[in-house]
Amino acid sequence: MRVKLPDLAAMTHLGARIAHELRAGDVVALSGDLGAGKTTLARAIISGLGHAGEVPSPSFAIIELYEPPTVRLPVVHADFYRLSRPSEAEEIGLDDYREGAALIAEWPEQAGGFAHEPGCLSIRLEAEDDGRIAIVEAGTDWLGRLPW
Ligand code: ADP
Ligand code: MG
Repeated sequence: MRVKLPDLAAMTHLGARIAHELRAGDVVALSGDLGAGKTTLARAIISGLGHAGEVPSPSFAIIELYEPPTVRLPVVHADFYRLSRPSEAEEIGLDDYREGAALIAEWPEQAGGFAHEPGCLSIRLEAEDDGRIAIVEAGTDWLGRLPW
């Protein structure tokens, strides 16, 4: 499935709709080159979950955790760009962070990938004209609740 995202308003709208559907155990796997818009969409989802403050890019910290009451659901925002091998994701305690939470993952392939999980919504962002296009693949848990 392909979704056109011509501007930042479209990113905000898509993020809000994903946030509305998001459940504990889900993964939103955001792939695409540097500058593709992964952090922009992650921020839109986290804002859509209720977070009103800043959403720092976790590229240095690797993991940022947002917990109720600022968000309706615990959410882990991870940027795996700096991992040198997938097993490092376990070493930094990813499984513990994910307990009862949803995961938004930038550079998911660096952590071994999540597409095999039924709760995975894979979104690949690419440049198109002045905006972006999202190429989306959804796991079986997303059947009937795709946000568009
Ligand atoms: P990434 O995390 O993939 O490296 P960012 O989210 O930091 O990328 O986005 C890089 C730039 O792309 C930002 O300046 C952002 O404003 C811009 N951008 C994001 N989404 C869109 C869009 N749909 N249309 C136009 N520009 C966008
Ligand atoms: Mg980023």
